[in-house]
Amino acid sequence: MALIEIKNLSISLKTPNGLVPICKNLDFSVNEGEIVGLIGTSGAGKTLICKAIAGIHSRDLEISFDRYRFDNIDITGKDLPQRRKFLSERVAIMLQNGTRSLDPLMTIREQMTENLPNSARPRKLWKRFFWKKREIDILLHKVGFKDTKAILNAYPGELSDVQCQKVNIAMALGRKPRLLIADDPVSTMTALSQLQILRLIDSLNQNNHVSVIYVSNDLGQIARLMDRINMIYYGEIVEQGPTEQILKNPHHPFTKIMLDAIPDMGAGSRRKSFFKAPGGDHPDFQHPPVGCPLGSRCPCADRECNIKPPQTRVKNGFYCCHFPLNT
Ligand code: SF4
Repeated sequence: MALIEIKNLSISLKTPNGLVPICKNLDFSVNEGEIVGLIGTSGAGKTLICKAIAGIHSRDLEISFDRYRFDNIDITGKDLPQRRKFLSERVAIMLQNGTRSLDPLMTIREQMTENLPNSARPRKLWKRFFWKKREIDILLHKVGFKDTKAILNAYPGELSDVQCQKVNIAMALGRKPRLLIADDPVSTMTALSQLQILRLIDSLNQNNHVSVIYVSNDLGQIARLMDRINMIYYGEIVEQGPTEQILKNPHHPFTKIMLDAIPDMGAGSRRKSFFKAPGGDHPDFQHPPVGCPLGSRCPCADRECNIKPPQTRVKNGFYCCHFPLNT
């Protein structure tokens, strides 16, 4: 069953010269208990899509959609403050920089105490004494902290990025969200720290049945974590499907480019070999290209690509390309 379902999401940036469209008529859904990936190069609009979903976008963006259902509740007609309030009770967010997601002027203890909702309070009266203190200790132990006292007394600036992300996950656990939006939370970490955080997100999903939207530009790093992948290019989903299908049988040339860019760390790989990256530049949102947005960077492009490709449905997904691969 779908936890969130958005139809025709459009995002435009307000500029002195008028509205600049970033994302047009995007349909997006996440099922209950599912981990969905939003994968694309930097500047493709992934973060803006997440902010629009969570209702935390800035005032210089204009957001519209035809339908928005969350947990079977239609919130299409709610205005932004109402939608924000509704979603803040159900959605947790992890940003790229763990330290910046926390208030630098408050200790971790103060922030975690403030973050715990009163609805989590025990029913029995005798259990209510110091329940927040006990609950915070349990949450920090769950994410792997042993010396919780030192963490609780620290300010975010005194902790490493990994520790801050672990605190963010503990806070998310405390609020018991239905959906976690993880916006590339491990991009600046070492491989070992990345593994720790990804495992915690996975266990949050498995044990607490939290659905996850995971944003990344590194398909190789997180592919095993995801149930379904949305490939984003120029503010559009160019291919969508189950992870296995996308990895083994990609149809869109952009997906193939992203898969080829995964570094080969196997025993047979050459030392100091070149890193494969998509050639050319990402098109400018202010000057949209004619036809398929991948056009100038696509190895399969031909004359027909001057017309925008329609969405072609395949089993459990779709792609947008005139000359699909592996069909
Ligand atoms: S429509 Fe053409 S340019 Fe676009 S991805 Fe397909 S082959 Fe490449």
